[in-house]
Amino acid sequence: MSFASLGLSEPLLKAAAAQQYTQPYPIQQEAIPAILRGKDIMGIAQTGSGKTASFVLPILQQIQGKPAAKNRRIRVLVLVPTRELAVQVNEVFKALGQQLPRKVKTLAVYGGVSINPQMMQLQGTEILVATPGRLLDLVSSKAVQLSEVETLVLDEADKMLNMGFEEEMHKIFALLPARRQNILFSATLSNNIEDIKENLLQDPVKIEV
Ligand code: AMP
Repeated sequence: MSFASLGLSEPLLKAAAAQQYTQPYPIQQEAIPAILRGKDIMGIAQTGSGKTASFVLPILQQIQGKPAAKNRRIRVLVLVPTRELAVQVNEVFKALGQQLPRKVKTLAVYGGVSINPQMMQLQGTEILVATPGRLLDLVSSKAVQLSEVETLVLDEADKMLNMGFEEEMHKIFALLPARRQNILFSATLSNNIEDIKENLLQDPVKIEV
């Protein structure tokens, strides 16, 4: 199977090739076409499975077809447990978005560093990769608006719960519009993850690799 057969556009195929992705990994074969169809996803996948590109590529394709977003209105929100993962996921968005005809601004925000530079960079951001606590701080300061989020990704959701972010996550979910696409990735399937899946996902495609 090739990336081209998954329905990705030429700029994304070029970017994937530039990253030395020759063939899609199993999780990518399943997730990319389903996300492009607008489906919710419940993915059980470990680091190293290629899970990041499995949501980054179709999200970039979806967003590319739309005009640039209005000021401070985030379109794609990726919640992650740690600063390291935030930086890493943002780098994948940047690398795979390089060839797109319309520039899509992506940003990583996380705690443990001063908030002001992040606030200043938010202008025009369409894809935000965030840790939950810092995101809520930015929302409180009115630096971010979540009322127009079209796609929500929870990456390493089990780790986010284990790190004690449950309350923050629920506060964030309450700020999102009801109509949206949801993509949940977790390395393990616990009762807590089942709860989130039941509350958040509609008729999800289940992927386990
Ligand atoms: P992840 O599981 O998202 O952390 O990705 C694990 C590693 O696999 C990263 O270094 C990616 O750059 C790489 N990768 C992802 N998809 C592919 C692919 N289709 N072919 C080769 N490498 C890939």
